[in-house]
Amino acid sequence: MDIKANIQKIKASLPQGVRLVAVSKTHPSEMIQEAYDAGQRIFGENKVQEMTAKSQVLPKDIEWHFIGHVQSNKIRMMAPYVSVIQGIDSFDKLAETDRQAAKNGRHITCLLQLHIASEETKFGFTPDECTAMLEQGDWKNLKNITIGGVMGMATNTDNEEQVKAEFRNLRAIFDSYKERFFGDCPDFNTISAGMSGDYELAVQSGSNMVRIGSSIFGERNYNINK
Ligand SMILES: *Cc1c(COP(=O)(O)O)cnc(C)c1O
Repeated sequence: MDIKANIQKIKASLPQGVRLVAVSKTHPSEMIQEAYDAGQRIFGENKVQEMTAKSQVLPKDIEWHFIGHVQSNKIRMMAPYVSVIQGIDSFDKLAETDRQAAKNGRHITCLLQLHIASEETKFGFTPDECTAMLEQGDWKNLKNITIGGVMGMATNTDNEEQVKAEFRNLRAIFDSYKERFFGDCPDFNTISAGMSGDYELAVQSGSNMVRIGSSIFGERNYNINK
C-alpha cells in the first residue's frame, strides 16, 4: 500500500472545501504515522480504546474523529482529546459529551448521525427524532459542545441512483436544520458522508466531509486482535 500516493490521489480528486477523514480503524500506528507524514491530520476511528491508545503515541496535532456507534459510558474516555464525535444519536449523548468536555476544560464538536439508508442495521436518529430533539431546544444550553452538522451512511448497494438520493436527502435535512435552528451558528457547516465505495457520489450530492479507509490503507483485517 502506498499510503502517501493514495492520500494525494484522493485529495486531488476532492473539490475545494471537502475535508478528508482518513479512517484508520484496525490499522497500526505506523501506518497512521505514514499518512501523517504525507500531510494528513484528520483520522477516524470506531473503537474508543483503540483510538485512545493510538492518540497517546501519535503526534498531538492530530484531529481525532470518533466515527463509530457512541456508547455513553465511553465518552469520558475520549473527552480529554477527541475533536469530533460523529455518531451522536440522542440528546443524552450530547449532554454527556457536554459534561465530559467541561470536566476537561475542552470544547467538543458533535455531528448528528442521521439514518438515511434503507437498511435496518445502520445507527442514527431518524429525521423525525432528530427534528424533535432540535425543536425541544435543551441542546441550546450545552455550552461545551458545538453541533457541527450531520453525518450519514448510504445503503450498501450498487444502485447509484438510490445512493445519490439518500445523500441528497441528508443534504436537504442539513439545509432545513441550518435554516430552522442554526441560522446564526456558522459552525453548523459539516455534512459528513461518503466512504471509499461511494464518496464521489456523496460529494456530487452535497457532502463536504468524506470518511475514507480502505482506499488509503488497504483492506482491513478484522482478526487483527485475535
Ligand atoms: C469504516 C468506516 C468508514 C470507512 O470505510 P471504507 O469503506 O474503508 O472507506 C467510513 N465511515 C464509517 C462510519 C466507518 O465505520
